Amino acid sequence: MTSLICFGGVDEIGGNKILLEDKSTRVWLDFGMGFGTAANFYSEFIGPKKCNGIGDYIALGLAPDLKGLYRQDYLKKMKRKEEEKEFDAILLTHAHFDHNGYFNLLRPDIPVYCSKGSECVMKMLDATSFTSEFLREKKSFTLVPKKRGDGLKRLDARDPEGVVEREVVAVNKKFSIGSLEVTPLPVDHSLPGALAYAIETSKGTIIYSGDFRFHGLNEEKTRKFVEKASAFEPECMICEGTRIDSENTETEQDVYEAVTGFCKDSQALVITNYPVRDTDRMATFKKAAEDNERKLVVSLKQAFLLKEFEQAGEPAPKLSEVNVYIPRKTWGLITEEIDWQYVLGDYDPWEYEFLQEKNAVTCKQLNENQEEFVWRCDFFELKELIDVKPGKTTKYVWSVTEPFDTKMELNQQIVMNWLNHFNINDVIHKHVSGHANGQDIKETIQTIKPKKLIPVHTEHAKDFQKLANCILPEKAEKIEL
Ligand SMILES: [Zn+2]
Ligand SMILES: [Zn+2]
Repeated sequence: MTSLICFGGVDEIGGNKILLEDKSTRVWLDFGMGFGTAANFYSEFIGPKKCNGIGDYIALGLAPDLKGLYRQDYLKKMKRKEEEKEFDAILLTHAHFDHNGYFNLLRPDIPVYCSKGSECVMKMLDATSFTSEFLREKKSFTLVPKKRGDGLKRLDARDPEGVVEREVVAVNKKFSIGSLEVTPLPVDHSLPGALAYAIETSKGTIIYSGDFRFHGLNEEKTRKFVEKASAFEPECMICEGTRIDSENTETEQDVYEAVTGFCKDSQALVITNYPVRDTDRMATFKKAAEDNERKLVVSLKQAFLLKEFEQAGEPAPKLSEVNVYIPRKTWGLITEEIDWQYVLGDYDPWEYEFLQEKNAVTCKQLNENQEEFVWRCDFFELKELIDVKPGKTTKYVWSVTEPFDTKMELNQQIVMNWLNHFNINDVIHKHVSGHANGQDIKETIQTIKPKKLIPVHTEHAKDFQKLANCILPEKAEKIEL
């Protein structure tokens, strides 16, 4: 018996949590957060209560109530009996939150299969944020004996025993899980390391597209995916359809050309915001900057990501070829003439290695040499404008997606307020999506020719009905193959 159940990604963009069962093998295809569904209940200031473990997620239908799936410390807190592991693996397509956002709830002994690139991205997130638990879970609700004196204390994540590493298998060629043979197929997307999968089951091959596009810097990856997927003569294809209704044909090259032209002949600072983990967009800005004899300035988090990629031998811009912005933190000692040991006190240990490098720049250097840089300044870094003091003819490139909910609209207004306050009026919006348009999706399906087609990750599932023998999934309903 082979079946699929979509616990997320149905009539919404993202939140993919698809359970594949083949004989006694049970694997998850992604385990993401559905932004739309979560936003029905939660916002910046209201979220699930940690003391309920996974209880709040289940109560609101954000995660399925299944045995043998969730982390033991949370279950224990919920007074649920100890459970045996009941799932063999999670096949992660890529490290966007709508595909891995609920990893923090899962048992760490269910191995995650993903690309090296996805592993690097998750490592960066875990290392640079105290709350991130993609690959390292912090044991919660655990008391341990005090080191000194009697009694117990709460186990702390800083304690080596306070962290459980998740099992991760970085894959780049065919592998087996129980009755399944799985072939990872790299695709181009707005995040490095994105994969599709061909999964050979006892009822034929399932192609799972993940998120993909043809208009990025690595179009050939997606072309190869289509060719290889088609050679499997698949029984079924689970296909994303974020932009099935879009006819926009703009490419990453268009972004590069627009940005290069915009920077030309400018004697002032160029400021931009683009998605933090999109190393291809970073490459676009780096090239546009260099064409105008400027250097791109990235954030500390991006520097960490580039270091991870370099160490793993994964393609991405070289850390030594960009500058890294070092913000003034807590005591603001980085711009003062003071012994280095005191400066370190302002920063987290993961940041230390970037602070004294040749490519480090502070607000002082940005301020004094504005025409030499293209500076990435995201929403959270807007406050740096006060220290950087951008000059009169400063330009701004807005290179992220259009706001699609009220919170994003509000944040966009805040960005505009900052720009207006500093008289930055020369602004362009240039961005392309990580998702294929309608025509590209249509051609993909017509070339791969699956016998059955299951649309996910879309608000327009019905548009797929004319493309193949389409099964519209219902949330938590079993589809027999
Ligand atoms: Zn997605
Ligand atoms: Zn994605």
